[in-house]
Amino acid sequence: MKSIIVTGKGRFEVADSPRPDPGVGEVLIRVKYAALCYRDLLQLRGYYPRMKYPVVLGHEAVGVVEESRDSRFKPGDRVVPILHSVDGVCDMCLRGEEAYCRSRLSFGEEVDGFFAEYAKVTGNSLVKVPDWVSDELAALTPCVLAMIHKGLRRIGLSIGETVLVTGAGGGVGVHAVQLAKAMGARVIAVTSHEDKAKVLGRFADDVIVGLKFSEEVKRKLGEGVDAVIETVGTPTINESLRSLRIGGRILLVGNVNPDESYSLRLGYVILKDVAIVSNIASNKRDVASVFNMVKSIKIEPVVAAKYSLQDFGRALEALQSGSRVGKILLTP
Ligand SMILES: [Zn+2]
Ligand SMILES: [Zn+2]
Repeated sequence: MKSIIVTGKGRFEVADSPRPDPGVGEVLIRVKYAALCYRDLLQLRGYYPRMKYPVVLGHEAVGVVEESRDSRFKPGDRVVPILHSVDGVCDMCLRGEEAYCRSRLSFGEEVDGFFAEYAKVTGNSLVKVPDWVSDELAALTPCVLAMIHKGLRRIGLSIGETVLVTGAGGGVGVHAVQLAKAMGARVIAVTSHEDKAKVLGRFADDVIVGLKFSEEVKRKLGEGVDAVIETVGTPTINESLRSLRIGGRILLVGNVNPDESYSLRLGYVILKDVAIVSNIASNKRDVASVFNMVKSIKIEPVVAAKYSLQDFGRALEALQSGSRVGKILLTP
C-alpha cells in the first residue's frame, strides 16, 4: 500500500509497504479521506521532540473498517480517529478527557498515522460516523470542528454572544465561524485576504478585512466582542485582545510555530479581566456532539483542494501558500 512516511527531520517519501496487521483491540481501516493540517508540517519539520522515525504522517482521517479485533467495531463501519492513540482505561479516559490520556501517543508522530491507504488503530481512539455525516465533514471533525467545540465548551460560550474569528479563511477558521454560528453566536470573521471575504460572507454575520481590526470591531459593536477564537497567533493576538470587551475570553487554537514567543502585558489582561484558554485536541464526546449537531444544523465542509498521496509535495505547497479558503484533503 502507498503511504507518506517521514524518514527524518524535514524528509518524507511516498512509500510502498505491506498493509498493517491489526493486533488485539485494534482495527484496520481503509482510509477514504485524510486531511492536511498545519500540525503535519510542524511534525515533518521535526518541531515535536517525541517524533519517532520512520512514521506514517497524518492524524485527520475518515475510513471504513476492513478488519476488526475490537468487538465494538465490525467491517463496513465508518469511523474517525481522535488525535491520539489512547488506552481507554486511565482516569482521564474514564472522565471523557482522552486528549489528556496518561499514555496517549500522537498519530503521525509517535505512532503511525493516516496518510496511507490502510491504517491500524486502537478501537479506543475511534468514533463511529452516523449516516447523515458526509465523508468530508467526518474527516474534518476531530481536529477542526470537535477541537473548536471543546474550546468553546471550555470558554463557556452562551447563545447570543458575539465571537470574532481570526484567520477565518484558513482551514480551521472557516469551520470555527460555522461552528460558533451553529452554537448560537453572532460571528465576525477576520481575514487578511480580500479575495476570501466573499466566501466568508456566506457563513459569518460580518467580515472584516485586514490586520487592524479592533477599531472596526468597536465601531460596529460600540464595545468589544465576548470572545475571540484566535487561529493565527502572534501577528493578530494584540488586536484580538484589544477587540475583547471587559471580562472577555480568548481561545488560542491552531498550531503556531512552537518557537514563537510573545510578551503579554499582564496589567492589561488583568485590568480587562480577560480569560485566556488554549486548546489543542478534542475528545470523543466532542466528536459525537458535533455529529449530533449537524443532524439538524448545516455545517458545510469547506475543501480548498484534493490531492492524491503521490501529489503530497504539491499538497504541502498548497497548505503553505494558504491561498484558498478551507482544508486540503488527501485521497489515498
Ligand atoms: Zn490537525
Ligand atoms: Zn487513557
